[in-house]
Amino acid sequence: MHTEDILFSLGEHRDGPEEYAASGQAVIPPIYQTANFRFPNTASLRRALADEYGSHLYTRGNNPTTELLRKKLAALEGAEDALVFASGVAAVSAAVLSTIKSGDHVICVRDPYPWTAWLLRDWLPRFGVSHSFVNGTLVSAFQEALQPNTRLILLESPNSFWFDLQDLAAIADLARAHDCTTVVDNSYAGPLLQNPLAMGIDLVVHSASKYLNGHGDLVAGVVCGSSARIRKMYREEFQGLGGILAPHEAWLMLRGLRTLGIRMERIGKTAHFLVEKLALDPRVRKVHYPFHPSHPQHELARRQMKGPSGQFSIEIATEDPAVTEAFCDALHCFQLAVSWGGFESLVIPAIAKSADHPSPALVRFCAGLEHPDALWEDLLQALNQVEMPARSRNR
Ligand SMILES: *Cc1c(COP(=O)(O)O)cnc(C)c1O
Repeated sequence: MHTEDILFSLGEHRDGPEEYAASGQAVIPPIYQTANFRFPNTASLRRALADEYGSHLYTRGNNPTTELLRKKLAALEGAEDALVFASGVAAVSAAVLSTIKSGDHVICVRDPYPWTAWLLRDWLPRFGVSHSFVNGTLVSAFQEALQPNTRLILLESPNSFWFDLQDLAAIADLARAHDCTTVVDNSYAGPLLQNPLAMGIDLVVHSASKYLNGHGDLVAGVVCGSSARIRKMYREEFQGLGGILAPHEAWLMLRGLRTLGIRMERIGKTAHFLVEKLALDPRVRKVHYPFHPSHPQHELARRQMKGPSGQFSIEIATEDPAVTEAFCDALHCFQLAVSWGGFESLVIPAIAKSADHPSPALVRFCAGLEHPDALWEDLLQALNQVEMPARSRNR
């Protein structure tokens, strides 16, 4: 199946002409904005109550609009099934909680998404779950952190700000040999550029607020995996904790998904173009981008990702956080904002994120859909406005 078949048509009007007729010949499937569904008789109601997963009974359990979205997201990740949640954080926590119990130990890549770190560091210890954060660039670090009670390895490749990678296939092998489940946060690459399930990973999560929706207008999450794992999660964390995605959000995301292919293609090209130029500028000490040859895991990136994504960071040639701040403040096309993955280009300096971050010169960018030349001109004028040690070498 072509990606476009999934993005545009999979599951939409799946019964053909009759379903078009039932929705007034609408080209786009309608939104089922309803909390519950009615039944013609007690027998059919009883059947639905016995199989909420396979029926339309109540929208916390199942709704045709969210069901269509789940089907597409599963197909994009090459998964048997998927569940959609109210946020990426709800998806990460559901995936984690579904795989551990009291007394277990979790190994997590260091510097994951901040709320993922919070879950392990500040919340799960209350329930007797311990953790280790490890340097994800070394497979041996996972091996060394293994304990007899390690049951989950939690990954994020590439991860934000530094864009370090983990060798997903090697870590999946290691985990399987030790009866551990593996979960990868695949938000950065997205399902068109990286499919961790094909590398042996058990569950893939995304913050769908980012590339999957792609329009910066909603917050959502997804977990993809085998039928068995997803059915267990459906009964427990999904239905029981209730952090589901509403049909309206699901419908908006179906709209966003239809352009995922062309957005990722454009965003990857733009980011690559900007990184190549920035890497040559003497006022930029370092670029962090898996698809730039200077990245220490460039080979691994080319092996496990299908192409470049849209985020990167740079270290400006300064030790002075005020210089970094002035550079960011001088940008016009890149808006200062958290999050990423929409149509607009964004920038955030590490100093704004955390006062104790030891990287005063680190700035993260997210390429949007603006013209690449306009973005480069903006970067250049901001670099020009800032007094830097290497200014005299300016070309
Ligand atoms: C944004 C993000 C999350 C959290 O997702 P929300 O949709 O904001 O809850 C998790 N992981 C990564 C890598 C993210 O970028």
